[in-house]
Amino acid sequence: MDTTALLTSVPAGLWIGGAERQATSTFNVLDPSNGEVLAAVGDATAEDAVAALDAACAVQAQWAATPARQRGEILRSVFEAITERADDIAALMTLEMGKVLAESKGEVTYGAEFFRWFAEEAVRIGGRYTSSPAGTGRIVVTKQPVGPCYAITPWNFPLAMGTRKMGPAFAAGCTMIVKPAQETPLTMLYLAKLMDEAGLPKGVLSVLPTSSPGPVTEALLDDGRLRKLTFTGSTGVGKSLVKQSADKLLRTSMELGGNAPFIVFDDADIDAAVDGAMLAKMRNGGEACTAANRFHVANSVREEFTEKLVKRMSEVTLGNGLDESATLGPLINDKQLQKVTELVSDAVSRGATVAVGGVAPGGPGNFYPATVLADVPAGARILKEEVFGPVAPITGFDTEEEGIAAANDTEYGLAAYVYTRSLDRALRVAEGIQSGMVGVNRGVISDAAAPFGGIKESGFGREGGTEGIEEYLDTKYIALPK
Ligand code: NAP
Repeated sequence: MDTTALLTSVPAGLWIGGAERQATSTFNVLDPSNGEVLAAVGDATAEDAVAALDAACAVQAQWAATPARQRGEILRSVFEAITERADDIAALMTLEMGKVLAESKGEVTYGAEFFRWFAEEAVRIGGRYTSSPAGTGRIVVTKQPVGPCYAITPWNFPLAMGTRKMGPAFAAGCTMIVKPAQETPLTMLYLAKLMDEAGLPKGVLSVLPTSSPGPVTEALLDDGRLRKLTFTGSTGVGKSLVKQSADKLLRTSMELGGNAPFIVFDDADIDAAVDGAMLAKMRNGGEACTAANRFHVANSVREEFTEKLVKRMSEVTLGNGLDESATLGPLINDKQLQKVTELVSDAVSRGATVAVGGVAPGGPGNFYPATVLADVPAGARILKEEVFGPVAPITGFDTEEEGIAAANDTEYGLAAYVYTRSLDRALRVAEGIQSGMVGVNRGVISDAAAPFGGIKESGFGREGGTEGIEEYLDTKYIALPK
């Protein structure tokens, strides 16, 4: 792979109104495996944000009026274009985000699927026609696109966190301005150009990388023309964005942080649970909102589960994501490395044992090894805070009630995983767990055809499934006489 040519093919300016636009300044994008500069990209200002909104507003009505079949076919072309360029997009993600190539390829498949799924949903936006119960009138209910949207995305899935928003928004007839994370703007800029080539009308999508997310966001949220904010990121930033968007009463969708429990009952197939644990913990190097953050294992099978998980985690090979032999890349930045190190030290200082890993190798790059912490005591910060790294803390429980109570002992409610051979127990526990999503005997739950999202402080709104498009539709009631 010629990475220099690949990086050169990414627009270096801002993407506004379907064309590259020179920014007044730039900021650097770093390679997390060695800290070297990969590229300098345009640094959007509040003025650029207004220009992107001008472009979105100029085509909003026309895009909304474009027949749904035509919108769907454009999305399908985008799906094909991404699939065709899968290797390039995957390499770009590995370069800027660090995850190993196999993970990046998996993300390309997952991320592209939102265009295929919503290409098919675009033509199924329904309504209803009924008579009023009193027989005095007719009720017509129809759906309309909410209008120009603003999407803010995180660095952990540089492609999919954007496509999960763009797919349904464009299918519904909305325009969108995307602000990618500072660490990973290249994938989104590359995608914008690809979507233009695939036939997305100019102005429907703009991309604004920026080192000043505050002013850019304020300019958009305070402009009365914006109709919706959709955010994926941390709970803290999400809360402040909800407050900011209250002034104009914008519609909002919030995909926020998680603290997923992974519960293994005494009747579970332990080998299957370990396979699932590896996926739930190590997908995306642990840097996923759905990542299993804490393992609650029935005391009677805890030793067996721990031993088997330790064996598998000790086989994980740390290295540069582009290196085919690596199965775990670096963390995104030194701040994240410091946080993971701190949470492990805190657990150890309270009595947890490091069964494997636990020591960063040092040197260039933000590397941290696959780590298992055994006997983690209640009160350890790692059971409460999102670690966002390759660390599996294991703690025990005795009864089913204790397992459920431990799982729910968090302000978050995004994902949870349950391993048991009993269908009764699986359903009982899945219903008792306070989270938007539960995987039963499965370590990966994300699917473009399913509603992804959380409850409690993990946010609100759903992405994917038949529910996903509703986030971008307003309901209109038209009253007619009999
Ligand atoms: P973050 O710090 O909240 O950043 C997310 C995005 O918000 C970035 O684009 C960031 O821009 C932007 N941002 C930060 N401060 C802002 C402000 N004041 N105004 C406007 N935008 C602002 O989160 P992160 O560390 O990138 O991502 C990890 C978090 O995302 C984790 O908590 C994870 O659980 C969550 N996540 C949730 C889901 C889900 O579906 N529920 C999926 C993936 C990730 P900068 O890059 O410039 O800081």
